[in-house]
Amino acid sequence: MTASIEDLIRENIKTLIPYSSARSEYKKANGIFLDANENPYGNYNRYPDPFQVKLKEKLAEIKNLRAGQIFLNNGSDGIVDMVYRVFCEPKKDKALTFPPTFGMYTVAAHLNNVELIKIPLNEEFQINREELDKYIADENLKVIFLCSPNNPTGNHLNREDINYILDNFKGITVIDEAYIDFNKRISYAQKLDDYPRLIVLQTLSKSWALAGARIGMALMSEALVGVFNKIKTPYNVSSIDQQTALEALENKESIQERMITILSEKNRVIEALEEFDVIEKIYPSDTNFLLVKVADGLKFYQDLLAHDIIVRNQHNVIENTVRITIGKAEENDLLLAALEKINSTN
Ligand SMILES: *Cc1c(COP(=O)(O)O)cnc(C)c1O
Repeated sequence: MTASIEDLIRENIKTLIPYSSARSEYKKANGIFLDANENPYGNYNRYPDPFQVKLKEKLAEIKNLRAGQIFLNNGSDGIVDMVYRVFCEPKKDKALTFPPTFGMYTVAAHLNNVELIKIPLNEEFQINREELDKYIADENLKVIFLCSPNNPTGNHLNREDINYILDNFKGITVIDEAYIDFNKRISYAQKLDDYPRLIVLQTLSKSWALAGARIGMALMSEALVGVFNKIKTPYNVSSIDQQTALEALENKESIQERMITILSEKNRVIEALEEFDVIEKIYPSDTNFLLVKVADGLKFYQDLLAHDIIVRNQHNVIENTVRITIGKAEENDLLLAALEKINSTN
């Protein structure tokens, strides 16, 4: 028997009576608003739309979804925390993930006092099915976090493994697709109607170039959106951020052009990096970053820092690796010039 959504939600969340904001009670656009203790003067004096209706409609159109399948929040990292709060009873329920991966799954587990089972990815950075099978039927396992394409390894997880989890796991499967737009794969969001316990995380932070605006998305069934609406803070996306996001979405073409530039820069950087002796391996990437293995990861990282080039030291998760984000052409040139100098003094 497949667990229903109702069975998976924590009791205190099910019985929670949400805060009803002044602005969600009156639906018409014009009226004399004396209900929310706002200041009547100024440009940002009014509270934002609590359910971001316009933005969701635009996103639904772009992503080929129903607006009701979209939940928005001030960053998708905050949604990771909400997933724990909705489904995992502290000190009792568990979640599972596959490191090396995005650090927020671990931080949010600790924050919520929930045990996180970690099954390391194999040599190809893919899921170890044999290990997974030891845990997948655990009654207290409520959530599995997958990241595909994965950060920091840069690769997609195999579709067969993801499908295996979707078909066999009775809890909530979260697929973090923060980097989905940088490659040609079809989003799992297109399968939401087949999988009522699937949550797909996306963000405007990477491909849409809006990390500063903090627009994270959970794409999921209407029923799950209803639950997350209940527990969110009343005004969880500012009106400035909603407006900024709408403008970017209206300008789809220019964003797409830049994405093409980033991807061609990525190929150029890969080719150039391959020429340096210090670089031992460039892992295949479906994202806007490269995971690179070098002889001495810490030294490599510090040598670049000395040139004011900041990459992400990943030595603590994968020995002697750094993660390099693809920048503008001139930034990538400076990276390559610095490597030229570092390479020749080694
Ligand atoms: C960058 C990133 C995010 C984005 O988080 P936001 O809070 O929406 O900026 C989410 N997941 C992964 C794996 C990321 O790398």
